[in-house]
Formats: sequence, C-alpha cells, structure tokens
Amino acid sequence: MLNMRALFLFAVMAITAAAQSFPIHWEDLTAEDFTKALAVSRNTCAIPFGIIEKHGPSGPLGTDLLNVRYTSELAAKQEYTILFPAYYFGQIFEARHQPGTIAYSTKLQLDILQETVSEMSRNGCKKVIIINGHGGNTALLNYFAQIQLDSPKDYIIYVVSGVSSASGQNPAAAPSKPGVDGHAGEGEVSNIMAHRPELAHPERAGDESGKNLRRLDLPTGVTTGISWYSMYPNHYAGDAAGSTAARGKAATEAGGAGIAAALRAIKADTVGPRLQAEFFEAAKHPNDTKQ
Ligand SMILES: [Zn+2]
Repeated sequence: MLNMRALFLFAVMAITAAAQSFPIHWEDLTAEDFTKALAVSRNTCAIPFGIIEKHGPSGPLGTDLLNVRYTSELAAKQEYTILFPAYYFGQIFEARHQPGTIAYSTKLQLDILQETVSEMSRNGCKKVIIINGHGGNTALLNYFAQIQLDSPKDYIIYVVSGVSSASGQNPAAAPSKPGVDGHAGEGEVSNIMAHRPELAHPERAGDESGKNLRRLDLPTGVTTGISWYSMYPNHYAGDAAGSTAARGKAATEAGGAGIAAALRAIKADTVGPRLQAEFFEAAKHPNDTKQ
C-alpha cells in the first residue's frame, strides 16, 4: 500500500517526468501544453535578450543572440522554464556605422519590452526573467527593472546579467592569453564555435584591429556616448584568432550552469514578490508610512 511519502515521491517523479517532456521553447508548445508547462516552470518564463550587431571580422551579426539563447537552452534543460522566442530589440546605437546593425529607437525598445512582458504576464508568466547576452543592454535592463515600480504590477522582473558569459572556475574556459577577450574576441567566438561552428571565422581575426585606440583622453569617471567608438571603431575588441570550440564548450556549459542556478533561486524566491506587493500598497498612501 502506498503511504504518503511514497505518494509524494510519485508526484515529484511525475512532475520531473513532465518537465522533461515539455519543449523549452514557447513557440514549440501547444496551447494545451503551455498551461501545463507553466505549472512545471512555476510560472517563470525567460527572455534570452540578444542584439544584432557586427561582431568583428570573425563572428556573425547574431553572436550575442545565438550565444545567449544557447546558454539559456542549456540552463532550461537543467532547470525548466519557458524560453521566449528570439528577442533582439535592445540598445546598440554605437554600432550604427557598421553593416547589418539593427538599432531600434529608444522609445520602441522600452515600449516593446514592456508590452512583451505584459503579454507574458497576461499568459501566466508571473516571474519574468530577462537573461542578458549583450553588454550594451545592461543599462537599459537595469533601468527597465527599476521603472517597473512606477505603477502596480502583477508580475515581477528579474534581470540576469553577466552570468551567460561567466567562465566559472574551469581552466578550459580561460582565455589563451591576456587581452584576447572583449567584444567579438576569443571568448564570444569560441562560444559560437561550441554550437554553430560553421558561423565562426577565427582565421579572419587579423583582418581588422581589435586594439583599444584610446583616442579620447578623459579622467576616470567621465564618460560620453562616443566612448566606445573612440576606443573600438571596428566594433571589435580583443583578438578572436585563438578561438576554439573546446573553450566555447567549457564556457557555455559554465554559463548554462550559472543561469540554471539563477533560475532555481528565482523560482524559490517568495520575498521579492511579497515585498513588491507590499511596496505597491504602501505607495498608494505614502503619508501612512511610519516615519
Ligand atoms: Zn557580443
């Protein structure tokens, strides 16, 4: 006869089996399975957030998009969540002088992200996790997360930044020498080689310079929008010549594990949603807040 513990274990096994049987991609789920997958994901959904921009002479325009989707897929297979379709509507004005860059207006970046998140919430995604794959999106995403507090929301945003490119402690994920990593450098191109080797061209790495030209001489702490262009006009930083699939495999696996750990923590988080609800209520009548 089954006791309660056995029943519980059976339920856990059934949920685990279900998690394995649902596709991780939003667009691959049927409508009926979507609602079941949401239960397995505990109402979490993630947007792997990329960009379309030049990646030096060696990487495809979609390097950041492809890499963040790949590491997010590795993560979602370990810790189930539903991955939103390809998303690349981020900040990339600094590469507008290069072929193939898609730079949407500032207003549209914010509007489409807000509408996307609102639609995800309307469909039951109450924890929306934005996994950032592009450095130029960092300020946008931090700002977007902060402005969620402008009015009550029935969902909460979590931004995961820097994790997908983390190499962890594995020496196989380390750069071949100092100074090779950077935008479109050895790390990013190695990551592409781990899953889309036909798109990487490390043999072209020397066709352009990825050196910092240091053309703008300003004190530390002073910045301007033209800083990046002043340093790297080829939209290439570092050196992709030493890129290898082996390094990319180690780095993307470490990145995937890092994202999976973040997904696990976010699923378990009850404090964030509770405090956000408390904040929205208190913000309706600030003069009642104890001084
Ligand atoms: Zn990149």
